[in-house]
Amino acid sequence: MQIIEKISEMQSWSEAQRCKGRRIAFVPTMGFLHQGHLSLVRCAREGGDCVVVSVFVNPSQFGPQEDFGAYPRDFDRDRKLLEKEGVEVLFYPAVQEMYPHGFQTSVEVSELSALLCGAHRKGHFQGVATVVSKLFNAVRPHVAVFGEKDYQQLQVIRSLVRDLNFDIEIVGHPIVREADGLAMSSRNAYLNREERKAALCLFRSLNRAVSMVQAGEVTARVITDAVKAEITRESLARLEYVKLCDTVTLAEIDRVQDRALLALAVRIGKTRLIDNTILTI
Ligand code: AMP
Repeated sequence: MQIIEKISEMQSWSEAQRCKGRRIAFVPTMGFLHQGHLSLVRCAREGGDCVVVSVFVNPSQFGPQEDFGAYPRDFDRDRKLLEKEGVEVLFYPAVQEMYPHGFQTSVEVSELSALLCGAHRKGHFQGVATVVSKLFNAVRPHVAVFGEKDYQQLQVIRSLVRDLNFDIEIVGHPIVREADGLAMSSRNAYLNREERKAALCLFRSLNRAVSMVQAGEVTARVITDAVKAEITRESLARLEYVKLCDTVTLAEIDRVQDRALLALAVRIGKTRLIDNTILTI
């Protein structure tokens, strides 16, 4: 596995692959890899001839009060895991390489970015859209894989690619969970034992919603109230939002018709966790 730190070198490598007719599949990450990430890597392997994974903790998607400094990092472990997966290139740029002195351009997917997590994390999706655009221009993939764990991010990327005519296929990958249902996340490392147990309330509340819909309930208010009640029962948890939304526009809807996204963000102590499920009739 090659480790590439420079954008120009990454571009040259990709150009050479393209000249050989090889299809490049890309998985962007912020590192501290878990089985969710590795599942995306395996999916990328199926979609391309060679796989590039980036590890970059992107400062521009963190707010000033957020956890950029504390975000877990373990490059050596990440490198070994990716090597085992047979990844061709680990793209590992420094912050200075991505945002050199004088950097002043940003990309904003305006409407989608204002909803759900965007309402609570100002500027977050602008940071995401900007860095993903830069990563796409560095890696020049044919296909890129993103997790449905960050469902809103996936929709932001789909819009970005369509609006700016990136010639890249975007593939969404289902949420990978721990055996007890907690969605895998690098941020789970922040949780102590008690908090880890408390964090199960997210999955529990989503399951409750799924059961309600299976039993015929379709009203958003009734479903989200049940989720709220489930989260409120957990004393270490504080609900940031729970919303029933259109699966494409993410606009709030008042009843499940066919398919709907149920998304929530919860704070467990100082850790902010997100999760979601698709409700179908
Ligand atoms: P991150 O390193 O958290 O920025 O995540 C990198 C990619 O992995 C994103 O596309 C995430 O949506 C995806 N991802 C993270 N956790 C999971 C998970 N539990 N299941 C599926 N995809 C995930």
